[in-house]
Amino acid sequence: MTMIDNTVEDAGADPAVPAYRLAGVTKTYRQKGRVVRALRGVDVEIATGDFVTIQGPTGGGKSTLLQLLGALDTPTSGNVRIGRTDLASASVKDLERVRARDVGFVFQAFNLIPTLTAAENVAMGLEPARLSGAERRERVAEALAHVDLSDRGDHRPGELSGGQQQRVAIARAIAKRPRVLLADEPTGNLDESMRDEILSVLERLNAEGLTLVVVTHDSAVARRARRRLRLDRGTITDVTR
Ligand code: ADP
Ligand code: MG
Repeated sequence: MTMIDNTVEDAGADPAVPAYRLAGVTKTYRQKGRVVRALRGVDVEIATGDFVTIQGPTGGGKSTLLQLLGALDTPTSGNVRIGRTDLASASVKDLERVRARDVGFVFQAFNLIPTLTAAENVAMGLEPARLSGAERRERVAEALAHVDLSDRGDHRPGELSGGQQQRVAIARAIAKRPRVLLADEPTGNLDESMRDEILSVLERLNAEGLTLVVVTHDSAVARRARRRLRLDRGTITDVTR
């Protein structure tokens, strides 16, 4: 890796700095006079290199929490630290850096662009990073290799199985070499064998040091996690056995 960047906020791969530290985090939505308290005081620390799943009923606040972990939104009150960056006091530029470099996102619906090839979809994940053409090609090849799709780079999503499409989406998320991968129901649209395919990719990435936070309804996924959290009506509990 050739990353010449030593900003003060950069936690590098320092395992002593937790990937996340949340204290008293609330998120309240106001819509047409209605108030929804999506998160009601979440305190949680997520260690660097951990594999954490978040389960819980629909409407419990899982996606809201993931948005905060991805620096896509800010809490109503409380504190979210991503590595050494505090969301509340971060500049717009810091937040852009976190989104462009530190965090990768994977969704249930893959969200691939059907007219682009797998390699072009993966390259989309590098758009904010502003790399040279050569470096971009290298990162795309590296990411596709990580998900065992080196031989499918020129296929369009419609020519791939659901499991392969989700692996392309994972490649798009990891091409920027993020510290954390956030996934919202990544196996929700997949049958069992494809789910196992995604699980082994995720486990391999985690073994290489990537921190994983995975929202899932699938207890087979949760069983593989090192740590299991439950989020119900905006309140988090650790349910690791
Ligand atoms: P989950 O992902 O666990 O199903 P969400 O985080 O999506 O839960 O939603 C938590 C609560 O916040 C729900 O009551 C939902 O309707 C509400 N909510 C989520 N996003 C918004 C929004 N942008 N505006 C208003 N209410 C929202
Ligand atoms: Mg959700």
